Amino acid sequence: MAQEKTQAVELTTMKYEPVIGLEVHAQLLTESKIFCGCSTQFGREPNANTCPVCCGFPGVLPVLNKKVVEFAIKAGLATHCQITRSSILARKNYFYPDLPKGYQISQYELPICAEGYVDIELDGAAKHIRLTRIHMEEDAGKNIHDAHSDSSLVDLNRAGVPLLEIVSEPDMASAAEAGAYLRTLRAILQYLAVCDGNMEEGSFRCDANVSVRPVGTTALGTKIEIKNLNSFRAVDRAIEYEIRRQSETLEEGGKLMQETRLWDEHREETRSMRSKESAHDYRYFPDPDLLPLVVDENWIAAVRDSLLELPAARKSRFMSELGLPAYDAELLTSRKDIADFFEQALKIHGNAKVLSNWIVGDLFRVLKERKLDDQLYIVNWPVSATHLAELVQLIDQGKISGKIAKTVFEAMLESDKAPRQIVSEKGLEQVSDSGSIETAVEQVLASNTKQVEQFRAGNDKVFGFLVGQVMKATQGKAHPQKVNEILRDKLTGNG
Ligand SMILES: [Zn+2]
Repeated sequence: MAQEKTQAVELTTMKYEPVIGLEVHAQLLTESKIFCGCSTQFGREPNANTCPVCCGFPGVLPVLNKKVVEFAIKAGLATHCQITRSSILARKNYFYPDLPKGYQISQYELPICAEGYVDIELDGAAKHIRLTRIHMEEDAGKNIHDAHSDSSLVDLNRAGVPLLEIVSEPDMASAAEAGAYLRTLRAILQYLAVCDGNMEEGSFRCDANVSVRPVGTTALGTKIEIKNLNSFRAVDRAIEYEIRRQSETLEEGGKLMQETRLWDEHREETRSMRSKESAHDYRYFPDPDLLPLVVDENWIAAVRDSLLELPAARKSRFMSELGLPAYDAELLTSRKDIADFFEQALKIHGNAKVLSNWIVGDLFRVLKERKLDDQLYIVNWPVSATHLAELVQLIDQGKISGKIAKTVFEAMLESDKAPRQIVSEKGLEQVSDSGSIETAVEQVLASNTKQVEQFRAGNDKVFGFLVGQVMKATQGKAHPQKVNEILRDKLTGNG
């Protein structure tokens, strides 16, 4: 029975293909709000960051924060958009308790950026995802319903916090592509330092528009919007769920209606929230308190000059200049702070591949164990770039073996000591002088006569065993290559 069900699902999903577009809300890293001087600091006491403007008192005048416009232009240039020379801020009218003005200031016709694209890569294949637009808007406040049983509370700290809404064309064909697009976009915004990309705190969140159509057709199916997805896992699971639900509904002869749905994380399903309103329901009109926004050539040129190297360019540079494999380059450039950490280490010791191994291997493992991998700032990391580079240098200079380096690394996690200091304090320096290695080899040969006979009878495999015994006798400190040479000489009678 269970098997029949699985087969039915597979059949259904093969007959229909998904079409996905995403709307991302990225909170901008400005110090003050979009239309007033209030702080944007997260986690403060409710309503601590408010004033008459962001509370929507009558008669107040909004003043557009220049930094918000600059950040929007930055994001637009980095995603190959056209920057609109004269754009308009509009009122989007709807009533909700967390929006006391009764309207949100946003952009409708004439957004500040239009017609860009983001190139993504999935399993080695590249894909071009078009952007419809990027516009600026203010966030709304937050309703709190469960603090007191008989009342609801409103916190307006978030009201007026600047957001970019980044809208893609329906160019994605799977949940995996949507995930890759989101990761790429997040990295770009983080590199630009316009958004911290923190999904947990809601500063990077997304709505997904999902429809399905019979394979081989071109007309779009009924579009269903899933609101407020706030983790990569939620994006993935919610889109997968919707594709299956819609395909099965059509397969069973049912009809889909355009609506907005919510993702229920605990039940792992989407449920209907409301039928989708269309633009005319919001009665958009230009905000009479704000003049049209004019962006001149000089401003665009100045912002363009301030753009630093973006993730895709940095990745290809790591591959071409440093000879790193695509896999390493991808991981190292996935976040700007990681790439910076790597390059800082590289300045001290230039062994790119070994440094990369330590970062994407050992360091990432530790960050994951300590739940630091989603920390946005590398200052919280347990090992500095300088110390990591010095560790690799000690290996390359033959001062310690790769194996001992693992021990030193563990000790580095516990203190701020330089690896050289740890090595000397713990007496871990590699033994390279032939005399003491020779003594150890002779002792091992004397106490393993059986293996020595086997080797001399032509069994090469015991050689590795004997090397291991010497390393053990020297507590891993003997220079492995020297051990190999001396051991072979002794066994073949040259020593
Ligand atoms: Zn304010």
